[in-house]
Amino acid sequence: MQEARNTNELTNLKELSRKQLQETLSELGQPAFRVKQIEEWVWEKGATSFDDMTNLPKALRATLAERFTLGGVTEVAKQVSEDGSRKYLLQYADGTTVECVGMPSGNKLAVCVSSQAGCAMGCAFCATGAAGLTRSLTASEIYDQVLHVRDDFDMRVTSVVFMGQGEPFMNYDETLACMRKLNSPDGMGIGARHITVSTCGVIPAIKRFANEPEQFTLAVSLHSANQRTRNMLMPGVKKYSLIHLYEVMGEYVDKTGRRPTYEYALIRGINDTEDELGALCDFCRDNLAHVNIIQLNDVKGSRFQPSSEARAGEFVRRLANVGVDATVRQSRGQDIDAACGQLKQRLAK
Ligand code: SAH
Ligand code: SF4
Repeated sequence: MQEARNTNELTNLKELSRKQLQETLSELGQPAFRVKQIEEWVWEKGATSFDDMTNLPKALRATLAERFTLGGVTEVAKQVSEDGSRKYLLQYADGTTVECVGMPSGNKLAVCVSSQAGCAMGCAFCATGAAGLTRSLTASEIYDQVLHVRDDFDMRVTSVVFMGQGEPFMNYDETLACMRKLNSPDGMGIGARHITVSTCGVIPAIKRFANEPEQFTLAVSLHSANQRTRNMLMPGVKKYSLIHLYEVMGEYVDKTGRRPTYEYALIRGINDTEDELGALCDFCRDNLAHVNIIQLNDVKGSRFQPSSEARAGEFVRRLANVGVDATVRQSRGQDIDAACGQLKQRLAK
């Protein structure tokens, strides 16, 4: 008989489909209603141990604990901002770490999650891009980030954005499965419109996303509507041209009737010139679009500088002149390196 069990060798119960969980429980001779009970513990209550599952018979709890883990994350570091945001570095059982951020505002709590550890897209201005891809996360691993933040704040999560590390559309199935769980009344019950996925513009995945029935929100990182500039800033999506992106976003709007957001981080002398502003206006005018002008966050060792606040204001005004709704996004938690990839980068030093 083997004494010590290595929890890494056990199956993570959260990775089972409902059907697999049903089969497991029926093999154990359990009544069907146990599935619902266990799912409630796992996805709604966020139980971290089978012992928490007090409405299950003790023997069943013990059997499950012998065969399964409940995944979960360990908090490696946390920084708390003056504005109340908290940024976490979280670790999975295999040692992989990712970042996520909780941003409270009154009785609302927004959570920003990572969909991958690292990222393969290599955007020139992004701390995550500089480090490359470690691996993609599973749906339950992403979900665990939200549970961790919820429990740390002891507040209901009211919105989730997939704007941490990684390119969600290079991990489409797991990202979508997580979004569905967050939306589901059997999970966190967060309204689909309050779940936003941000992509650097992976066109085949945008096409797929247009066919999903839920009212999820889509954000596209544009950063330049000039092909040459965009190729330089975002080499990972070079093969998806702006013309094609424009077409596909038109189809997305026609199909879904939903308004996409374009993210645009202003970089001094690179994408904040008159030419660039003109190209951005042309890309967005006559289309359903909201533009988020973002102040570039400092990335150590980066050759890029943010533009002035005045320039950001000018972008918003000029977009409004051509009928495009735009806002300057208030960056939260700047004092805690809340920009994507930065906490991990600092701790690695
Ligand atoms: N990979 C996805 C989602 C994660 S990045 C994407 O690129 O859309 C989330 C947002 O942060 C993106 O809009 C990204 O372009 C932006 N971003 C990355 N580095 C940044 C920086 N240094 N300053 C400001 N925004 C940045
Ligand atoms: Fe990846 Fe997004 Fe960073 Fe680009 S901006 S490297 S796609 S995480």
